[in-house]
Amino acid sequence: MPGILVYALHYEGAINKNSLGAVTEAARLAGELGSEAHAVVVGESIPDELAGSLGNYGVSKVYRVEAPEGLAQPVVDAMAKIMEGNGHEYALFGGGLLGFEIGAGLAARLNAGVTMEVTSVRVEDGKLAAERPILGDSSISLSRYKDRGIIIGRLNAFEAKESGSGAASVEDVQVELSPWSTRAKMVQRGEQRGADVNIEDADVLVAGGRGLGKPEGFQLAEELAQALGGAVAATRAVVDAGWYPYAAQIGQTGKTVAPKLYVAAGISGAIQHKVGMQNSENIVAINKDANAPIFEFSDLGIVGDLNKILPKLTEALKARKGS
Ligand SMILES: Cc1cc2nc3c(=O)[nH]c(=O)nc-3n(C[C@H](O)[C@H](O)[C@H](O)COP(=O)(O)OP(=O)(O)OC[C@H]3O[C@@H](n4cnc5c(N)ncnc54)[C@H](O)[C@@H]3O)c2cc1C
Repeated sequence: MPGILVYALHYEGAINKNSLGAVTEAARLAGELGSEAHAVVVGESIPDELAGSLGNYGVSKVYRVEAPEGLAQPVVDAMAKIMEGNGHEYALFGGGLLGFEIGAGLAARLNAGVTMEVTSVRVEDGKLAAERPILGDSSISLSRYKDRGIIIGRLNAFEAKESGSGAASVEDVQVELSPWSTRAKMVQRGEQRGADVNIEDADVLVAGGRGLGKPEGFQLAEELAQALGGAVAATRAVVDAGWYPYAAQIGQTGKTVAPKLYVAAGISGAIQHKVGMQNSENIVAINKDANAPIFEFSDLGIVGDLNKILPKLTEALKARKGS
């Protein structure tokens, strides 16, 4: 019996890395369950090679559905039909906002159990069990499913690995979209600033918070990050305010990082931020408030105005490189 259906998001002719991780994970788990993992791609005129290439990550079959791109509801329609028609017991997603939206819709449609922000999945007594960190990542909750299960990973929680098993067969599926699924239209799609840098891989991060004062304040963080050969990260406060993209958010509802150096500029050090960066090797905090909580878990604290300190640090680094 087919076990797991995994959603593969594609963008500009390539499958997104996060999805490749989910496909790899689905194939591994299906192997342990003694069943199969299949993938689904949804979009406009998706080429055979792109869909079939998912076979390299371990799935035997890829369902291809022709539907408007980039929207959650058409994918919910497609996955519900495929799962019901073929008896898939589980759906798996990489993290990301689209995965959360599709997963929630699919859980409601199929009356299935759903777990989000999953960091690890294992097989127990012939069923999947998903681990999800809770309470600011201080504990782990384990979800098991009575019937169908929808499992949505934390961003980049699953590692993509080619299995060398060659191309998968591609099966076209006609799906009648629900009336509400075509009510929204993709108007524009664009790259976010900083989206090209994978902050989880960076050795050095310069993170900015509300203390930067305004969106343009991030220029100071970007200049220092460039001088250090690192990337820029952010708190949720500034991401919610639209100053910097979500892709750069560190913390409970963002990414977890452990770089060699984490420079926190204008960040108070709330617990929800701390859980995402506390394992950094060296934490340097710059804050004008000597009592800011961030100083309690920093290796080096600088009390002062970041508008003066950041440019001076950048200047000093550039001068050192030039000498
Ligand atoms: C359920 C939940 C989930 C959350 N998830 C996250 C998450 O994933 N990530 C996250 O970051 N937050 C998260 N938060 C929000 C978190 O609680 C804090 O509100 C947020 O981290 C604060 O961001 P901040 O440090 O940028 O802003 P603030 O707390 O406002 O701190 C700004 C700091 O800048 C300093 N400052 C101001 N001006 C200057 C200056 N000129 N020079 C130097 N310092 C200056 C101030 O002294 C202050 O300490 C979450 C909250 C909830 C309830």
